[in-house]
Amino acid sequence: MNSDSNELTEHQQKVQLKNISELLSYAHAMEVEACERYTELADLMEAHNNKQVTKLFRTMASHEKQHGEEIRQWADKNNLPILPNAHYQWTSPEGPETCDPADLHYLMTPNQALTLALHNEQRARKFFSEIVKYTSDEQVREFAGHLAQEEMQHVVWMQQWLSKFPKTQEGWDDDDDPPVLQD
Ligand code: ZN
Repeated sequence: MNSDSNELTEHQQKVQLKNISELLSYAHAMEVEACERYTELADLMEAHNNKQVTKLFRTMASHEKQHGEEIRQWADKNNLPILPNAHYQWTSPEGPETCDPADLHYLMTPNQALTLALHNEQRARKFFSEIVKYTSDEQVREFAGHLAQEEMQHVVWMQQWLSKFPKTQEGWDDDDDPPVLQD
């Protein structure tokens, strides 16, 4: 099965979300996952002394965390539960399989890290846009539209940053000074 048909199936499943509680729970899981992944990517870039990209990913982590909290507050205010069984994981740009934290190799370049982030921001945007398109619930459509706009902004930011860090120059990962454990 190729990644395209998997993506489609995944999105087709997701747009079946009919009530606002399911949407909120899934959106919340997405924000939590994004916050965790951006924190990992920031740590990774920090280990390479890339201060600019570290700062970008820390900012993204706090944006996503804030969105997660807004979603939870909105749910609480409307007496809607965040369902504990809503799960979401980032995937790798190369295929449908989920992106294992172990795959975040310590030599990952800024370009690779940003490509991974862009890919997952696009998935998030597409997810919310498709809900807007297919849901019959007005409240769901409005909220998903708001989330889709936020994700679109993230997509634009990742594209802008990618243009600052074009595909890896030869030798980027020649590590003359590998990290060592210190006392
Ligand atoms: Zn995002």
